[in-house]
Amino acid sequence: MEKLSSGELDEKIRECTLCDLHKSRSNAVPGEGPDDADIMMIGEAPGYYEDQEGLPFVGSAGKKLDGLLEKAGLKRGEIFIGNVLKCRPPENRDPTTEEIETCRPYLERQIRTIKPKLIVALGRFAGGELLGKSVSVSREHGELRDSSYGGWHCKLFISYHPAAALYGADAAMKLEEDFEKLGEVVEKLDEFKTAEQTTL
Ligand code: SF4
Repeated sequence: MEKLSSGELDEKIRECTLCDLHKSRSNAVPGEGPDDADIMMIGEAPGYYEDQEGLPFVGSAGKKLDGLLEKAGLKRGEIFIGNVLKCRPPENRDPTTEEIETCRPYLERQIRTIKPKLIVALGRFAGGELLGKSVSVSREHGELRDSSYGGWHCKLFISYHPAAALYGADAAMKLEEDFEKLGEVVEKLDEFKTAEQTTL
């Protein structure tokens, strides 16, 4: 992909027709947040309200996320929030492997532009994509690990997708615990080392 500013990249995503999801979307959702955010939160894909508004996490899962951010001592405006897929799969079905692969260069480019110290993966699709292998969120949530994605090395924290809290008390409780832990992780952000693989 050619060198683009974050605004140009957003525009490219909004006009993208690389996979069939462009046919059913109302709006692509590039994500939002500062270009130099220390923290990126990455979910699975836009839902109904995100697709309608072209913004990430604006529905009920978004409200849940706002509450969780508060628990971690974070403000939405200081982090970048986006998704693995930039367009909504019909009826919120799971993303396909092909869709994830086709959309991957956008997330890679966003991460290499923003250069975060920490990425928080919300749900198994985001966790699997950022870790490069399938993830069991119920076993692997709440741990801080090393991530290398798109040539950018930083820390990765995996948790449930906030939507999971809307459907089950167990996931809701674990999300709360994870974001409490995330608050402690964030306090050490300045100690985290990052690195860029410049050969890409
Ligand atoms: S999901 Fe990604 S690859 Fe598919 S049309 Fe949207 S922006 Fe393009």
